[in-house]
Amino acid sequence: MRVAIVTVGDELLSGDTVNTNASWLCAELTARGVDVERVTTVPDDVADIARVVNEYRAEHDAVVVTGGLGPTHDDVTMAGVAAAVGRDLEPHEEAREWLTGEGGYTAEGLVDGTTELPADAWMLPNVEGVAPGAVVEGVYVLPGVPDEMKAMFEGVAEEFSGERTFSTVVDVDEPESELIDRLSKLRDRFDVTVGSYPGESVRVKLTATDEAVVDEAAQWLRGRVDLVGDAE
Ligand code: ATP
Ligand code: MG
Repeated sequence: MRVAIVTVGDELLSGDTVNTNASWLCAELTARGVDVERVTTVPDDVADIARVVNEYRAEHDAVVVTGGLGPTHDDVTMAGVAAAVGRDLEPHEEAREWLTGEGGYTAEGLVDGTTELPADAWMLPNVEGVAPGAVVEGVYVLPGVPDEMKAMFEGVAEEFSGERTFSTVVDVDEPESELIDRLSKLRDRFDVTVGSYPGESVRVKLTATDEAVVDEAAQWLRGRVDLVGDAE
């Protein structure tokens, strides 16, 4: 399953908020075997949201959008998603029922717009907050508040799946540029994807759908590099 993530918010683009939602969703989806192919951050702007969501839903099995729910002036995500799928934003009966029932709000206490979702969307209750999420045509719309986002994602997590992969990391104590030949041979020899992440050491991450292949490839590589922690 191929998925794109869209995080919405001016505060993400200005650096005021660190985009932990994107990292969390990437890890959760990857752990479920999903291929996360895009993470894009867009401002609180209906046209920007609509354009990116529309492009991604054409190319992916699902799009996960977070941030910018709720009824305040800068919360325009539902309008952007509605525009992307060509539907109107409408008061959603189930959202109203949930909020005035389990949510504990009175009808008068609900700020205008709180229950508006794209027409005929599937409502996702917000057990940690107020603004409901939605699923419409493969687009999953979740809140921006991290705890709310996580709780809502858990409710739909089963809908995201793919082939399980196995990974292992080989921590190499050599300059990355010197590893090129060995990593190339490793790729030729084994059916693994190889990620190379330099820092104080070079973390070489091997991933495959067959755990035995990952183990063999890691053993092959460990025998041909200086490992972190090896005696000089
Ligand atoms: P609410 O319904 O409470 O208004 P919301 O869905 O409208 O939530 P935002 O208004 O976009 O969410 O953001 C609410 C809070 O969550 C802000 O403090 C914001 O910084 C934080 N937040 C939003 N997006 C992210 C993100 N991608 N990663 C981490 N924190 C985020
Ligand atoms: Mg908000």
